[in-house]
Amino acid sequence: MESQKLMGQSALITGADSGIGKGVAIAMARAGAKVLINYVHNQESADEVVHEIKEAGGEAIAFKADVSIEDDVQAMFAKHIETFGSINILVNNAGLQKDAKFLDMTLDEWNTVININLTGQFLCSREAAKLFIKQGVKNEVSNAAGKIICMSSVHEVIPWAGHVNYAASKGGINMFMKSIAQELAPHKIRVVGIGPGAIQTPINKDAWETREALNKLLTLIPYGRIGQTDDIGKLAAWIASDDADYITGTTIFADGGMTLYPGFADNG
Ligand code: NAD
Repeated sequence: MESQKLMGQSALITGADSGIGKGVAIAMARAGAKVLINYVHNQESADEVVHEIKEAGGEAIAFKADVSIEDDVQAMFAKHIETFGSINILVNNAGLQKDAKFLDMTLDEWNTVININLTGQFLCSREAAKLFIKQGVKNEVSNAAGKIICMSSVHEVIPWAGHVNYAASKGGINMFMKSIAQELAPHKIRVVGIGPGAIQTPINKDAWETREALNKLLTLIPYGRIGQTDDIGKLAAWIASDDADYITGTTIFADGGMTLYPGFADNG
């Protein structure tokens, strides 16, 4: 049986009714954490994730909140504490794309992506950090007072024409993650980024739903396969555990080598 390295802890995972967030929630529950499944539109999918976790013997609740709205975020953290008594892990996962060529991009497309992908991480991390500091370190639970995981992307470092709002949000997450890691380390709070490559989820369906699209995508992945949500789930559960106690202020890429400039593999 897989060891339950997050036993006695609870995790709040944003955008956990779908894709990577769902994979992270299931992996953390498998590792023993109680989980809050945040959703914004699809209550049915969130309830299904809760059901799946409970069926496997875990504890979970679903909560509707828009991560870009301060009142929603505060209500979500209040619900987490009311339900589980304390909080140990935040996973800032919620995110979306509103793609457009730069010259055609509307202010609304820009603002929506920045507000959800970047400002959402600010609002959730600030609430989590206040609670972690108030709670302090409980050594019987974890060496850290709290852990914050920031879902970034390979587009934290790889420029992406036609997606400037998304790439700017992920580049922003990198300095956001590092700056708060520096500020919160004395409080024994760890902050770590995850940079997924191409993971098979609804966000990038166009890139894998036909054989032709998938073959084109695979030219960007030296390791030769698309990623699965559990690849990220297992990494997130490990980062949140004390096995990763000395890791803070860095992004770990899980991308099958996408950041290795595969175009240069045959001499460029
Ligand atoms: P997804 O579309 O399956 O999931 C995104 C989740 O975010 C959904 O649950 C959605 O409801 C939620 N969300 C959107 N706006 C929200 C809001 N305002 N408040 C709360 N929740 C909101 O896509 P995914 O691929 O699972 O993406 C999850 C994260 O991983 C995103 O941050 C994305 O940028 C990142 N990511 C994904 C990939 C990939 O290849 N799939 C690669 C790199 C990074």
